[in-house]
Amino acid sequence: MNIEISNIANLPSRFGTFKVKAFKEPCADGCKEHLVIYKENLQDVPTVRIHSECLTGDAIGSLKCDCRDQLEYALEFIERTNGMVIYLRQEGRNIGLLNKINAYALQDNGLNTIEANHQLGFEADERTYEIVPYILNHFKIEKIKLLTNNPHKINSLAGIEVVERVPIIMDSNEHNSDYLDVKKDDMGHLL
Ligand SMILES: [Zn+2]
Repeated sequence: MNIEISNIANLPSRFGTFKVKAFKEPCADGCKEHLVIYKENLQDVPTVRIHSECLTGDAIGSLKCDCRDQLEYALEFIERTNGMVIYLRQEGRNIGLLNKINAYALQDNGLNTIEANHQLGFEADERTYEIVPYILNHFKIEKIKLLTNNPHKINSLAGIEVVERVPIIMDSNEHNSDYLDVKKDDMGHLL
């Protein structure tokens, strides 16, 4: 993989003081720039959260999903436990922002999150995690505790041993309870 890697910078945040490093990955329509957020004194077997970008949730505070709550939970968690968040730029389960908004428009007309993706010609979840082992290898990390409710992620990290799954416990709201039910019932998430 022809990946460009930034220098290390300090990032003071409302969740704590982190180190950050960016990884620029070539892709079909240009490149994807991912961000790794981590504590200076990383544990030998760190707790790692893999977060996929969700502009509407992460930046706007959308209540249609639980992305921002999960991101904040993860940043607080790694601050406490000296872990790492890998922020992957694969918006809208990797269909991109424009397609995601089209899917939201279909959801406004009664489709659920999976049906809307299918109507647009996409799988329910198009995300990939090949870059994650590359990033962990870069940090010389071979074993992790994975902060996730998504069992598919555990098996998608070639060459990385997941010694423990650490669950994320979240409350639902009136806007995302149907979405969370679909995640649990139809996508196999452990909620
Ligand atoms: Zn989201």
